Amino acid sequence: MLSPVTDADGAPFWRYAAQGELRVQTCAGCETPRFPPRPCCPHCHSFESIWRRTSGLGRIWSYVVPHPPLLPDYAALTPYTVAVVELADAPHIRLVGNLVAAPGAPLDSLAPGRVRIGARVRFAYDEGSGLAQWVPERS
Ligand code: ZN
Repeated sequence: MLSPVTDADGAPFWRYAAQGELRVQTCAGCETPRFPPRPCCPHCHSFESIWRRTSGLGRIWSYVVPHPPLLPDYAALTPYTVAVVELADAPHIRLVGNLVAAPGAPLDSLAPGRVRIGARVRFAYDEGSGLAQWVPERS
């Protein structure tokens, strides 16, 4: 399995994710959230930023179900779902991640036929893989 590659700008995202928190880099000057993390605000050009905690909620904006040919480790896990999720707290930000039945569940734990665009999901962190995931939000 592939592990996240972090850099100085993105390291806080992963540090908070490992604590179960979805935080988004936010400009300290104009308070505009941005993703992916980067040194400078594209709106006001400030280099000051904070990591604002979000609700961790979002909606499926799009998704794919990868099929072989894939890297061998992933081919063995099909079918699984990779979702593009629009954040409830910052709708212009969309994050990509695996959609699974529960935090830490196997990649193929949620049948792709149950996935719907617009469905509510919640951020989760899989300690085993070190990856951010999405799980269905049940209210
Ligand atoms: Zn700004």
